[in-house]
Amino acid sequence: MKLTFELHTLYFKRPFKIAHGVRTSTPIVLTQLEHEGIIAYGEASMPPYLGESHETVLSFLNKASVLLSKFQHPFEIESILKEVNLIETANTAAKASIDIALHDLNGRLQNQPCWKIFDCDKNKTPYTTYTLGIDEPEIIKQKIVEGSDYKYFKVKLNGENDKAIIENIRNVTDKPIAIDVNQGWRDKYIALEMMEWLANKNVLFVEQPLAKVNWDDARWLYERSPLPLFADESVQRYADIDKVKDCFHGINIKLMKCTGMFEANKMIKRARELNLKILIGCMSETSCAISAAAQLSPLVDYADLDGSLLIKNNLFDGITFTEGKITLNDLPGIGVVKKV
Ligand code: MG
Repeated sequence: MKLTFELHTLYFKRPFKIAHGVRTSTPIVLTQLEHEGIIAYGEASMPPYLGESHETVLSFLNKASVLLSKFQHPFEIESILKEVNLIETANTAAKASIDIALHDLNGRLQNQPCWKIFDCDKNKTPYTTYTLGIDEPEIIKQKIVEGSDYKYFKVKLNGENDKAIIENIRNVTDKPIAIDVNQGWRDKYIALEMMEWLANKNVLFVEQPLAKVNWDDARWLYERSPLPLFADESVQRYADIDKVKDCFHGINIKLMKCTGMFEANKMIKRARELNLKILIGCMSETSCAISAAAQLSPLVDYADLDGSLLIKNNLFDGITFTEGKITLNDLPGIGVVKKV
């Protein structure tokens, strides 16, 4: 198998405000895996908190391309990914780009969509949330209008003006909202007071209210919270799931954190065993990585896969949304076509 890659930058339609700053772009790397004339695609997206950059991904992929050239057949996904995982301990996004391309390649070689290979029911996809973000009241209102096709909104809060943001949204729409605090609430008392205030505001769940390492406070909040709590930054890979089971009601699985589709599928199975709810999420990504995650979406409860809708330069056509419901196609692999 031959691995090649390209560097790109994705630009947001609007500045993206999160708990610790404002971003206008995200670096990504697109990978291509070639076998017997068939080309498959993968993607690494690198938000700052993952600690990866164009340089770290390139350095990893250069090592991986030597390794992959030794494999004659792409079918042994598990053993190939095991060796890829051992190249470095971190680099989860770089690993995900190889995992996605490998699944895409297998699907293309078998002429089957990945959702079928994962034994999913194409019709059981969830609806995605549509992100409103942290913004001025007028801009939030505008985003609600732009997202009128979507059934659920995702609201980012950061500990400043949180109640005003929610009240502003509730003046415009009563649609269910999912809340993501991105570790933004200072302590457990503030968090509990906010959860109680949010409890009658038609909120689906609250994601990562406290700092990711703050396990004692997460458990304290879990025991008292009137709303479901989801771990995002606190759970990255398979090995983290057992740690969160007594501190959160659910987990947010993202391909860029967990090294891709293979491990995400394992995490879904483990989360089900532990009775955890599952959200499948994304970073700022093109329709390549979004479509890869969507292949597994019939297996989860909620989806937050609007990353490709929020960027100006989507480099792929892939899965679509029908009034917010993830709509899988029948194309082989992850179901994408690269734009020229
Ligand atoms: Mg989150």
